[in-house]
Amino acid sequence: MTSRKFAVKKIGIIERYQEFLPITERTPIISLNEGNTPLILAEALPVELGLKNIRIYYKFEGLNPTGSFKDRGMTMAISKAMESGAKAVICASTGNTSASAAAYASRCGLKCFVLIPEGKIAKGKLIQAYRYGAKTIMIKGNFDQALKLVQEISADGKITLVNSVNPFRIEGQKSAAFEIVDDLGDAPEYHAIPVGNAGNITAYWKGYNEYKKAGRSDTLPKMLGFQAAGSAPIVEGKPVPNPETIATAIRIGNPASWKGATNARDESGGLIEAVTDEDIRKAYRFIAEREGVFAEPASAAAVAGVIKLAKRNYFESNTRIVITLTGAGLKDPDIAMSFDDKIECVEPDISKVKEVIQS
Ligand SMILES: *Cc1c(COP(=O)(O)O)cnc(C)c1O
Repeated sequence: MTSRKFAVKKIGIIERYQEFLPITERTPIISLNEGNTPLILAEALPVELGLKNIRIYYKFEGLNPTGSFKDRGMTMAISKAMESGAKAVICASTGNTSASAAAYASRCGLKCFVLIPEGKIAKGKLIQAYRYGAKTIMIKGNFDQALKLVQEISADGKITLVNSVNPFRIEGQKSAAFEIVDDLGDAPEYHAIPVGNAGNITAYWKGYNEYKKAGRSDTLPKMLGFQAAGSAPIVEGKPVPNPETIATAIRIGNPASWKGATNARDESGGLIEAVTDEDIRKAYRFIAEREGVFAEPASAAAVAGVIKLAKRNYFESNTRIVITLTGAGLKDPDIAMSFDDKIECVEPDISKVKEVIQS
């Protein structure tokens, strides 16, 4: 038998893309080997949609160290906070930002405070912030109110804000666009992404543009953003005071990077539309049950969006669509178990088990 060699070195996004990032020799790199996530070819979805000569890929960000793309921005934000001598960081979060901030802060001994909307955060994310040792504070209000509070608290500079209004977050997150171009050899024709606070769509558009400028790609994708119908301020053109959706990661009524999102949409010739919770649930099940990819509900919003556009023949043939699956399915066990297909429980008796198998 011939022995096979496996590369053991896996580096994080700062090391990998340092020439595109605002770091210096003095920046301590606080990394958990984030990034380098797989671009998974969709098998069932194009068949289901009858799309011929269109390839769909899932950029599965749920495989980052804390289970969401937030780690790309957080490695930058925390590294820069350390460089500036910060002692503590704070964020408002629908869950994943707090999980990521807590992990990276714990890695370098920073104190971490997180404000989350009471009852509207997926259980897995809450557990993460808590277990990584962040001081977790629940707000009897929504994300937008929590963000306003942490902006006020951090205004005097004593505690560093690590929400995506921190520009280093966007800088780190743009690395996902670099990876996609590195994998495909050029930018895809379309890029679909869920939109909450709108930092990520802003970051991808920045990344695609910087890579093109550097000669790493020849083209730019049309950016396709999707909000949940009960939480679609950009689609409606005005803030939503009481946003509601099962996709808690995008339950945001007044996105901080609103302008970045509409710029990405308009400059790329793309669109930002809404999808219903019903469509999100269907897409969520589809990618898990038919593609073997378990992502969280907010991620499924982008899949639902692609399904919606495909049904009205939006996509041109001989093109590629990349869908960012922003977070891991295990984050939200309550939604995962909220469908009517129940798990059966029987006596430890072969005939009973066979009955279930044959039913
Ligand atoms: C944060 C987050 C989003 C929304 O990203 P924005 O940058 O706020 O638009 C979507 N999905 C998941 C899983 C997230 O954690």
